[in-house]
Order: sequence, then structure tokens, then C-alpha cells
Amino acid sequence: MSQVGTEGNPLRVAVIGAGPAGFYTISNFAKHKELAVEIDLFDRLPTPYGLVRAGVAPDHQKDKSVTRAYAKSAEQAHVHYYGHVEYGTHLHMADLKKYYHQVIFTNGAPTDRDLGIPGEELSGSHSATSFVAWYNGHPDFADLDFDLSQENVAIVGVGNVALDVARILCKTREELLETDIADHALEALSNSKVKNVYLLGRRGPAQAAFTPPEIKEIGELADADIIVPPEEARVDDASRAQMEANPDKNVDKNVGFIEEYGQRSPTGKSKLLTIRFLVSPTEILGEDGKVSAIRIVRNEAVAGDDGSIRARATDQEEVLPVGLVFRSVGYQGVPLADVPFDERRGTIRNECGRVMTEDGEVVTGVYTAGWIKRGPSGVIGTNKTCAQETVQCMVEDLQAGKHFNPEDPDREHVRSLIHERQPDVVDFEEFGRIDAEELRRGEEANRPRVKVTSIQEMLEIVNN
Ligand code: NAP
Repeated sequence: MSQVGTEGNPLRVAVIGAGPAGFYTISNFAKHKELAVEIDLFDRLPTPYGLVRAGVAPDHQKDKSVTRAYAKSAEQAHVHYYGHVEYGTHLHMADLKKYYHQVIFTNGAPTDRDLGIPGEELSGSHSATSFVAWYNGHPDFADLDFDLSQENVAIVGVGNVALDVARILCKTREELLETDIADHALEALSNSKVKNVYLLGRRGPAQAAFTPPEIKEIGELADADIIVPPEEARVDDASRAQMEANPDKNVDKNVGFIEEYGQRSPTGKSKLLTIRFLVSPTEILGEDGKVSAIRIVRNEAVAGDDGSIRARATDQEEVLPVGLVFRSVGYQGVPLADVPFDERRGTIRNECGRVMTEDGEVVTGVYTAGWIKRGPSGVIGTNKTCAQETVQCMVEDLQAGKHFNPEDPDREHVRSLIHERQPDVVDFEEFGRIDAEELRRGEEANRPRVKVTSIQEMLEIVNN
């Protein structure tokens, strides 16, 4: 047989997960014009685009426009999309070895980290990631119930996800109508009684994980004031010294916005968003099994030997009466069958995208990119360079003859197998019908899109 990667014997690649890292894997392969490649892209949901669809905030429509380029990738003749097909259920490592030369896992980080404090199990204590998935209409989360009859809400963490959650909680119905927020969330949030939202940062403004455009945006809400207690908006001496030693424009800008919010007073808007710094939650308190308050301890900023600033608890405590708590302290990856996993990092064990065993051996033919490779950090575009690094390894390994030796590298055979195992598989043309229906409903409602949030309804649209 001719060499792998030529017209007569194309390189067959399975991509598991159709989010940004999966699509950037495809576009990075396209740069290797010398290679003939066939790519099968799998996703456990009928709809592709991962966190661009189910994570990016519905009021950030511009960020979602990357899906146009992703769609072009998926429509190429050498790419086939298999939606509603799950690795571990419909497809196993043995199948991948039988039909492909290489597999790359780009399935992201589907769950979240917990705080490890008492009271997290109480009703009314949620992960921000589940709230985000709920308001974005992810089918697995669409039926969740958040008690928005509560007036006071705490969000733990000051990353961009925490800001997304705070913004969505504080927006008016009119503001939300301009978005593609799921209908169930639009209705629930329109009737919300939420008045006070607290964002809790364990370190100071100079260490906040949010980015300048996002912290600026939250100061411009139509009907929510934003304040920061002036003493908490002030940068502590250790952080100021670090800012001078390691200048960073983003940190300077973040600090500038927080200092400005530190000078604001409520102007009588319906909602009040308060950002707190140098406080950590120590316990979620409850009554009758429901969240009633959160206990926080005041921290001081301490410079470590490596120059990093960490939070050290003092003995000053405070109790904030809140009826809802969202922990927003990071997403987390989960292990997959037959793929080495680093439990501590919550990622697939890898070096530059090459999957490795615990003993440091390269697992031939198996790769990873995106959050499941490097952890839940960076913006959408970060996945482009991340996938580029892995695709480079895949091409080098191919040239070195290191890949699976599939006994049946035939795309039609794998197609039959998948249709047999998952009769409700959705291809890209079929997904296009769901997409068109959502846009049609959006046009009718004068909104960017009205999302279909149940898999059953998606399949009905496909089969109509
Ligand atoms: P993140 O940026 O890692 O922020 C996590 C936050 O949780 C940090 O403030 C962190 O504080 C805090 N935290 C961690 N453990 C804690 C604990 N035990 N107690 C209290 N606080 C704790 O994570 P994320 O917000 O989930 O965002 C994930 C990635 O997606 C980020 O790269 C983010 O920029 C990106 N994203 C971007 C956008 C956008 O561009 N608009 C929107 C959403 C998400 P420490 O710093 O002290 O650890």
C-alpha cells in the first residue's frame, strides 16, 4: 500500500470533541497541503461548537462569529461530522485503532472544581458552569432549576466566568432580549428577584483573573450599579511592588477599573453588584437544607519567594446573608476510558499534545488539544496555537511512521458502524437544519437566535 498521507492511502484522523480545539485541529491540518487527510469529527451532542455555543455568554455574540469559519471547515469534502456520537458509548479505543491512524481528544473540561468547604451540598449552592450551561441552553442542563426568588447572591471567584454570571444575573429583560439566551432562562431571569450580587475574590485587584474588556463592560449595565468597597479597591503594598517589578498592561487596566469602581456609589439602579477582594469563603450556611448565608474570612496578601502573591487568612470573619451561591473557581476535565489521565491537573496526561503514560512513555497514535490538554485557561483563540502544537507532533510522528496501523482504514465502513450503533447520528448537513430553525425562530422573535434545548426536538427537526 502507498505511504500513509497520500491520495491512495490518506491519513485518517478521528477528532473527539467538536469545540474550538477540534475545529482548530482541522484548520491546522489544512496548512499541511502535502498531506492527504480524512478527518472524522465526533461530538456527543447533535450540535457542534462546544463552549462557543454552550459557554460563551449569550450577550457576547461577536465571540460566537468564529462558528462561521468552523462551519466552513466542517463542510469540506475530507471532513465528516458525526454529532450525537459519544466516545466510550458508541465508539471505543479499539474502534479508533481499527479505522484510524491517529486520534486526537479535544473534548474540553465538562465539569467544575469545588471549594471543599462545608455547606456546598446545600440546595441553592451551584457551580457557575451549570448555570452557564443552563442559560446557554445546553440540553443536559436545560431542566435545572435555580431559585431566582432570592434577593442576595454570592459568586465565588473573580474570573471571566464569574463576571459572565454576574452580568447575566444583573441584566434587564430588554438587555437579555438582544441575546440568544435560552428561552427558559430568559423567562426565569425576567422574573428574578435578585437585587444584590457579590463577587468574591480571594486575592486583590492586581491578581484578579478577569480581563480588562470584561471588567469594563460590567460597569456599563443599564439597571445595575457596581461598587467596590474603597479599602478593598486599594492595591496592597506587596502587590504594588510586584506591579512595578513586572509591569503588565492588563493588570494596570484591571486595577484602574477597580479603583474607579471603588469611587462609585449606588445611583439607585434596581440591582447592586459589589465586588469584594481579599476575602475567602469558609462555609456556606443553611436553614432547612437551603443556603441562607456565606461565611467569609478576610485575607491579607503575602508575597511568596517566587514573587507570586497569595492570600493568607486573618481571624476577621463576616457573614453575608445570601440565598444562592455560585462557585466559579474553574472548569475541570474528566477521565475518558483507555486514555491516561492526570488527576491532579484534571487533564489528559500529555507532553505538547502527545499522550503519555504515567511512566512517561508516549502512547502511539493518541493526542490531545484544548482544555483537556492544558487545563481550563485562555480565550477561544488560545486553542488555535494549542492545536497547532499538537498537529505538528502528529505530522512529525506520521513522518516517523509512528501511528496506529488500522486494519480497515475505510471511511464508509466506519460510517456504517456508527449508523448501526447510533441510528440518531446527526451529520453536518442535518445540523444545518437545526441551525436554520433556530435562526428562523430568532428572526420571528427579533433576536439573534432562539435555541433548541432538547435533543429530542433537535432530532425531530432533523427528521422533518
Ligand atoms: P479562571 O480565570 O481560572 O478564574 C478562576 C477564579 O477562581 C480566580 O479568581 C481564582 O482566584 C478563583 N479561585 C480558584 N480557587 C478558589 C478558591 N478555592 N476560593 C476562592 N477563589 C478561588 O477561570 P474561569 O473564570 O472559569 O475562566 C476559565 C477560562 O475561560 C479563563 O481563561 C477565562 O479568561 C476564559 N473565559 C473568557 C471569557 C471572555 O473572554 N469573555 C469568558 C469566560 C471565560 P486565584 O487567582 O486566586 O486562584
